[in-house]
Amino acid sequence: MLDKIVIANRGEIALRILRACREMDIKTVAVHSTADNNLKHVLLADETVCIGPPNSIESYLNMPAIISAAEVTDAVAIHPGYGFLSENADFAERVESSGFAFIGPQASAIRLMGDKVSAIRAMKEAGVPTVPGSDGPLGEDADEIIKMARDIGYPIIIKAAAGGGGRGMRVVHAEASLTAAITVTKAEARAAFGDDTVYMEKFLEKPRHIEIQVICDSHGNAVHLGERDCSMQRRHQKVIEEAPAPGLTEEQRNAIGERCVKACQEIGYRSAGTFEFLYEDGEFYFIEMNTRLQVEHPVTELITGVDLVREQLRVAAGEKLSIRQEDVKIQGHAIECRINAEDPKTFMPSPGLITLYHAPGGPGVRIDSHIYSGYKVPPYYDSMIGKLITHGADRKAAIARMRNALTEIVIEGIKTNVPLHQEICQHAAFRQGGTDIHYLEKRLGLA
Ligand code: ADP
Repeated sequence: MLDKIVIANRGEIALRILRACREMDIKTVAVHSTADNNLKHVLLADETVCIGPPNSIESYLNMPAIISAAEVTDAVAIHPGYGFLSENADFAERVESSGFAFIGPQASAIRLMGDKVSAIRAMKEAGVPTVPGSDGPLGEDADEIIKMARDIGYPIIIKAAAGGGGRGMRVVHAEASLTAAITVTKAEARAAFGDDTVYMEKFLEKPRHIEIQVICDSHGNAVHLGERDCSMQRRHQKVIEEAPAPGLTEEQRNAIGERCVKACQEIGYRSAGTFEFLYEDGEFYFIEMNTRLQVEHPVTELITGVDLVREQLRVAAGEKLSIRQEDVKIQGHAIECRINAEDPKTFMPSPGLITLYHAPGGPGVRIDSHIYSGYKVPPYYDSMIGKLITHGADRKAAIARMRNALTEIVIEGIKTNVPLHQEICQHAAFRQGGTDIHYLEKRLGLA
């Protein structure tokens, strides 16, 4: 097994990784910025290295500082968590060329999936269903593009190949605005990502976001752990996630899951990954793959009993997965609410001192959070301060536990979106399940 690893992240995910390491007797090195001396995992880690000032460019995104920290502490591997450097192929390459294991996929797989055009092409070849579209980057021939859009049928969406985080996309409803939309998206993509490659897709009007979790080792074994429904979104940011997806049948799950497993085997994928799909009228359409652990991985862990971080660590040590496809059984239903330090109405970030914190508890309640009474949420990073996850025999039971837990949780001193979650739990449409990706914004009067 791995002897000692560097956790190159912060907040709840760094704590999640630290917990898995401790269970497996793996020593931990917490690397952190000067703003994060009091993070819970920093206090608990075997060793700590301050890697720079608060600004993440100089700390959590500082590759030489992180690799040096691994060198000086004699660590053998680096876990990137999510966000920051987790999907940076150059970082994965530098980690491995410096003699450390990267706890994630090979740099080549990150690179392939990081470019959406190459990702879609690879998936198509592997038999994964994709959105009808331009089948590659848009060229210079305006007439050809106009014809292509007509063939696909409006509305269409122009997307940047290098896009991410919901940026670099533009919906076009009619031919009159097509050329201008392409010009603007290209300019934006050039400015934001340094790459103005764009492609075209049919714009699906009422899709749900359903994603498939996979985990693979370097011995050719790959399994899928079913799906998650992450349709409850605001500005393309997930707010609530759940598993399994309401209404999805076991046949549908197995069919799409097997396609994803096959795709992983074809590209020789290693570690955890997520195939993201839009789902409409019973059909799946691949949009992108996340080559890392995801925020919402706990809902999958609760319904399958598989510890994804543990499997990642095993795989990075060269071991085989501890599970086979036939071992994966889905039990009950799990829901996750992302708890953010923000105003529940205006969504303005609300960093500051947490004067009082009481965690909810009881059967089927899991909290992944680094906060504690007296912890000061710094203003420099993402506003997510934790995740509240509940599990029950069925969806109704999971929601009932979530409603309880949301009334039990106490976070004082800062504003949080707990009231928003409480409100959503009362919505008849949420309780029925299966709402589309536009539901929340419409309901909040934002769309
Ligand atoms: P990013 O990498 O920026 O997250 P994605 O390709 O995953 O970009 O798309 C983000 C979101 O944009 C999707 O979850 C969906 O809400 C919307 N979207 C993307 N492509 C389409 C499409 N073809 N039709 C409808 N909505 C889309």
